[in-house]
Amino acid sequence: MECLASPSTSGKTRKRTAHPENWKQNIAKRQRYSPKESPNRPRCQHLRKGVYKCESITMRDVMNFHAAFYKYHNKETQDAFLLKYCVPVIPKRKRPKNKKHHPKTIHTNYSIYSILQKKKITICQKAFLGILNITKHRVQYIAKKFVESGGQAVK
Ligand SMILES: [Zn+2]
Repeated sequence: MECLASPSTSGKTRKRTAHPENWKQNIAKRQRYSPKESPNRPRCQHLRKGVYKCESITMRDVMNFHAAFYKYHNKETQDAFLLKYCVPVIPKRKRPKNKKHHPKTIHTNYSIYSILQKKKITICQKAFLGILNITKHRVQYIAKKFVESGGQAVK
């Protein structure tokens, strides 16, 4: 449709120099730290009396934990949150069988805060990652950084 567009002298009209790609990027960044799926209730068979108490947490705990994690859509806040519940375990003077071999993966203890039980509940890795829909690589990376920094970088 022909509007009252001013006739362009050069034959080319310049569009407004907005940069939608900028905010597209911002949205992408934000989305990267937004929940992609609703939390998954752990389906593992870890019984209440074991080390992992995955079965003792309720769907409400799962939903709350998920919401708390995704409250802020940025990496820093989420990483700080993760470090409260993914505690890297640094082996103490455990003589390795092969001294040349340095363990690269840090063992991490996973827990979830249960509102019902009013305490942290230790759960298995699979359950934890399923609840937050995050990869183990993300946690491992944070744990590694944490240990490398002397375990004091994040408050
Ligand atoms: Zn489990």
